[in-house]
This record gives sequence, C-alpha cells and structure tokens, in this order.
Amino acid sequence: MNVPLLDLKPQYNQIRAEVEPVLREICESQIFILGPKVTECEAAVAAYCGAAHGVGMSSGSDALLVALMAEGIGPGDEVITTPYTFFATVGAIVRVGARPVFVDIDAETYNLDATKLAAAITPRTKAIIPVHLYGQMADMDAIMAVARAKGLIVIEDACQAIGAEWNGKRAGSIGDYGCFSFFPSKNLGAFGDGGMLTLQDDAKAHQARILRNHGSEPKYYHHFVGGNFRLDALQAAVVTIKLKYLDSWTAGRQANAARYADLFAESGLVAAGRIQLPVARTNRHIFNQYVIRAQRRDELIAHLRTSGIGTEIYYPVPLHLQECFRDLGYQVGDFPESERAAKETLALPIYPDLTGEMAQAVVAAIAAFYGQ
Ligand SMILES: *Cc1c(COP(=O)(O)O)cnc(C)c1O
Repeated sequence: MNVPLLDLKPQYNQIRAEVEPVLREICESQIFILGPKVTECEAAVAAYCGAAHGVGMSSGSDALLVALMAEGIGPGDEVITTPYTFFATVGAIVRVGARPVFVDIDAETYNLDATKLAAAITPRTKAIIPVHLYGQMADMDAIMAVARAKGLIVIEDACQAIGAEWNGKRAGSIGDYGCFSFFPSKNLGAFGDGGMLTLQDDAKAHQARILRNHGSEPKYYHHFVGGNFRLDALQAAVVTIKLKYLDSWTAGRQANAARYADLFAESGLVAAGRIQLPVARTNRHIFNQYVIRAQRRDELIAHLRTSGIGTEIYYPVPLHLQECFRDLGYQVGDFPESERAAKETLALPIYPDLTGEMAQAVVAAIAAFYGQ
C-alpha cells in the first residue's frame, strides 16, 4: 500500500464547492491585493489565535522578518533561537543584519530548552524567537519569565503551530509577536504562499501594516523602508474558508497520533527501544508533523521508501552547521541534542485524511524492518 507523507487532495474535495465560487468572485472583482478578503482573514485568524491584531503577510518567513523590522533589530543586535528549526527562522535574523545566537533543544519536545536560555543572554540580546516545532509549543512560561526579567522581545515562530496551546493560551498570543505560515503543507494552508503576524499592541500592529507595504503612509510618503510583504485576496479567502474546518482537521491529526501510539505499543517496537514516539507536554499538540526517533534511521528510511511509505527528515542539518552560517563560528558538538535529533528522527504521515488502514501499513512496514 502506498501511503504519502501528505495528501491534500481529499481536503480539497471537502471544500471545493465552497472555495471555487469565492475564487471566481474575487476574479470578477479584480481586487487581488489586500482589500476586504484580507481584512476578513486577518480578523478571523487573530480571533482564532486569541490575538488583538492579525496582519496578513506574504509568507511566514516575511512575518518573522517584519516582526524583527518593527522592533528595529539590526546590526550589532543578537537574537536567541534554536538551531533545530526550518531555515526561515534564522534566515530572518540574518537578513535584518542581526546575529543569531543558538540555544540547544530539549530532547523530548525538540523545542528550545528554556533552562539554557539565561546563559545565552548578553548585553546585545534584543529578542528571543522560540519555535513551536511540529505543532507543540515551547515552554512559554519559562521563556516569558526570562524575557520579561531581561526586557527582551519574544517573537513566536508559530508557523507549524496554529491552534496549539500552552496552559490554555494559543500559539501567537503569548509573546509580543506570533508568526504564522499558510504554506500548503502547514495545518492551515493556502493555495500558494501566505502568512500572518499576530500581535496585541495597537501601535506595533499599525507599524507592521505599514512595513508590509514599503513603509508607505500615506500612500507614496515613506518615513522608513519596508518591503512588499502583502497577503493577496485569493490566498486570504482560501485561508478564511479553511479556518472553519481547522479544529476538525486538528482532531483528525490528534486521533491519528493516538492510533499510532496504540499500534506502536502493540508492535513491541517502543518497549524494545527501536523507536521513541513523540512526547506531548502541552495540552494541545496539533501535530503538523509526527516525528519519531529510530535506531538505524537512515536504513529505516530507505526501507520505508521502497515500501511506498512517505517519510522525511525535519531537519537533516542543524542550522549552526549550515554552510551559509559558517562565519558565526559554531562547530560540530556545540548543540548535541539538535545534532542527535538530526541524525535519529524521521516524520511519518499524520495528515487528517490518513486512514486506519494506512496507519497500520506504516507501523507494519517499520515492524518488518526491525523483524518485530
Ligand atoms: C514553514 C515555516 C516557516 C516559513 O514559512 P513560509 O510561509 O514557508 O515562509 C518558518 N518557520 C517554521 C518553523 C516553518 O515551519
């Protein structure tokens, strides 16, 4: 049986009848850039996330960039984050001219280890970017306590975590900024690129709105330099429609995670130490990815690929070891948990439309590999 890592076609079939007339309506209106569909999407996403403001962005990467720009972070400043994340988190820091300072991850959650945070702070530190990896939030109590004590800005990279909660608070509503991505493979995906910045502060929200439009206010008067970071109407409309279904899709992902837990327990693979399942420390893990640790990981991946099971490594090279960040001076061994995760983990299919049969096929293929 072929089991893809992600298949979005069943989801499209579910919403097709609702989405297509709205896309046509936008084409008839010929209003593509910002406008009422974007405003509606901003309000809906902000409400869903428990934030006062939502500012539509061209991508999650640009949401991160605009948050840093709105704080005037640049050359001479340091921003603390994890080396075990998608490239964009660190790319944004470097693009504004600031220096990324890495803190290793917790071995169970793969999120920034908040107990190591204080030691990384220097007089140049301006902000912390915790990443809520795979759909589980970082320890926001500990991170906010350190940030508030030291006067640091917190920018949540919530690109994989829309709807995730930490002690009852949603991703993107705890820090000063929340950054979301509508890349199609995210839990709330558009039909192309898109993103959202969430914030509580009125003045900063206004600033972010201007920054995403070349710093223009009023039109053609520029007090500072922004960029073209606008969300378009077609993407915004798709996101607004999909948002109504997000909780049911999240429930589907959570049910699949629970099913895997049962199947893997029955298989004996966990007890035998062959694999380690994801650990949910928050009360609402939204499982953008279902990532396990496995013995002989690379051989297992090769076996899964020949068995028709989709899998991927998120991420094979921790960012402190990337060629483009070589001049930061980090070395192999600097962040052992991130390096170990890069060597030992793999993602399994978890999307809402994955069937029980498919999950069984995934577990059976892994059990066959270990001869279990
Ligand atoms: C997807 C992602 C981003 C970037 O989002 P884009 O919309 O693709 O630019 C940033 N950070 C993390 C952790 C992500 O998963």
